[in-house]
Amino acid sequence: MSELDLSEFEDESWMFEDGLGTLGDEHFMRRALELAKQAAVQDEVPVGAIVVHENKIIATAYNQREQLADPTAHAEMIAITQAASHLGSWRLLDCTLFVTLEPCPMCAGAILQSRIPRVVYGAVDSKAGAVVSLYQLLSDVRLNHRCEVIGGVLAGQCGQVLTEFFERKRKLGKK
Ligand SMILES: [Zn+2]
Repeated sequence: MSELDLSEFEDESWMFEDGLGTLGDEHFMRRALELAKQAAVQDEVPVGAIVVHENKIIATAYNQREQLADPTAHAEMIAITQAASHLGSWRLLDCTLFVTLEPCPMCAGAILQSRIPRVVYGAVDSKAGAVVSLYQLLSDVRLNHRCEVIGGVLAGQCGQVLTEFFERKRKLGKK
């Protein structure tokens, strides 16, 4: 086996180390989860995101698609814009994005464009996820940026707020 083959194997292995986040990752994911719950209170699909730079939170956001009547107002998009504004640069070097749900293709695209080196997400989105589920955009060797991905951090709780939100919606719809 050539050396190239080995390095490709190593690339694959970190992609699937689900749930192996550090304690710090859990701490920050809890903050993202609080933001997701805030979204639910405002009748938005509960997804929360934060950006951490040098161990400090520089952006906090939750999905605001309804309030802003903006299809791009996903939590990650808002957090990335905030973080870039804070740093005064479109390159989010040395940053980690925490998001309660696996990013969609649009958000994965924004993650690539902002050169974020590390992404930590909670629940898997089997219907729209573009990190492991439908596409693997953050590890696609054809693109010019790849990032370290940790999935499954507080996945149960992150998924639970979504399940509860849609259950409540369905009940209200039946009345
Ligand atoms: Zn998205």
